Amino acid sequence: MLQDAINDAPWVQRLSTMRRPLSITSESVLVGALERILLGRRISVSDGVKLYNEASLSGLSALADMIKRSRHGGQIFFNENLHVNTTNICTLACRFCAFRRGSRHSEAYALSPDDFISRIEPFSESIDEVHAVGGLHPRWTVDDYANLFGKVKNRFPKISIKSLTAVEVKHIASRSGISTRRALQILRESGLDSLPGGGAEILVDSVRDRICRGKETSREYLEIHGEAHELGIPTNCTMLFGTVETIEERMTHLQLLREQQDKTGGFQCFVPYPFLPDKTRLPEANIPSSDEVIRMIAISRIMLDNIPHLKAYRMNIGDHLATVAILSGADDIDGTVGREEIMHEAGSRVRTDYNRDQMALLIESTGQIAVKRNTDYSYAMEYRTNLNNIRMELPIAEHG
Ligand code: SF4
Repeated sequence: MLQDAINDAPWVQRLSTMRRPLSITSESVLVGALERILLGRRISVSDGVKLYNEASLSGLSALADMIKRSRHGGQIFFNENLHVNTTNICTLACRFCAFRRGSRHSEAYALSPDDFISRIEPFSESIDEVHAVGGLHPRWTVDDYANLFGKVKNRFPKISIKSLTAVEVKHIASRSGISTRRALQILRESGLDSLPGGGAEILVDSVRDRICRGKETSREYLEIHGEAHELGIPTNCTMLFGTVETIEERMTHLQLLREQQDKTGGFQCFVPYPFLPDKTRLPEANIPSSDEVIRMIAISRIMLDNIPHLKAYRMNIGDHLATVAILSGADDIDGTVGREEIMHEAGSRVRTDYNRDQMALLIESTGQIAVKRNTDYSYAMEYRTNLNNIRMELPIAEHG
């Protein structure tokens, strides 16, 4: 299936045989990091801070790209999916969130199962995944979500349901008077296939207290994901950076994800994305530059030695920066998406109407191989762009 399939040797072994670019061999901080990895040792929080502060961007990208290529060769994954948000009504008011509305707001909505299904209908022949997250609805319980997932699965049995952030799981369980583990069990039986991993923000409670007070704690985020993994539900994990956190707190976040992965092993992809400032209430945020975004993506690939995939989330960082990210450690460029509200409410202008050929063309523009995958990467097939199917020109850049 995959013509450029990498051999079966462990990725660190393949890394040891790869040619080292000059940008790595000329910087002691990068040489030290590479030697550490080849000796089977881990990049610590302080190593991560040092790399972030001292390495050149080109050297950091080159090291992360070596690691990515030792894991996945020249392959870059994408999928055909659709985002549907269940509701924008939320009982919380995270300071970075431009999506939520109060229940009496004129723009508040809550989709019924029929509304939800009608959103999928026009895309049902092309997508294999629906990505569904939303606010914390004051009345919905586990029965409402079980009913929704059951109906969606019944109508579209081949479409994978990737839904619910950890705080949604916590809220639904609390509203239903059951444990989060029990809620996940019920939802799994109703059709839930995986969790998208949103809401991790920064897994340091003092930061969470400033940007998303009332949300689940860092420990709860990790525990809920651990429970999902133990129930056989794979999850992604995320990081929202560039609000009020320090570089050390970002590295702590990565270390906590790595430790959780050591315990329960169900994280399939890490998705880091920077804060987008439109319409939100965080004037003190340290908005990351493009340099910092790529630096963070590269360091994530270097530190997260036990999470197989790393996504350049184009809905957030835009196509232009996403192509740089897939040359700097990321191996996935997300999906066709179809419709997106959360990042677009916060200022993203990234197009959501790409078909599979436009996704593949974006990847091929970096000299790499487009691989169409399903939700859990259990299916992966090389995909070559058919130029006859390109509907429009690719935009130059739309970050921010
Ligand atoms: S980030 Fe999620 S929990 Fe926080 S206000 Fe927005 S919708 Fe609600």
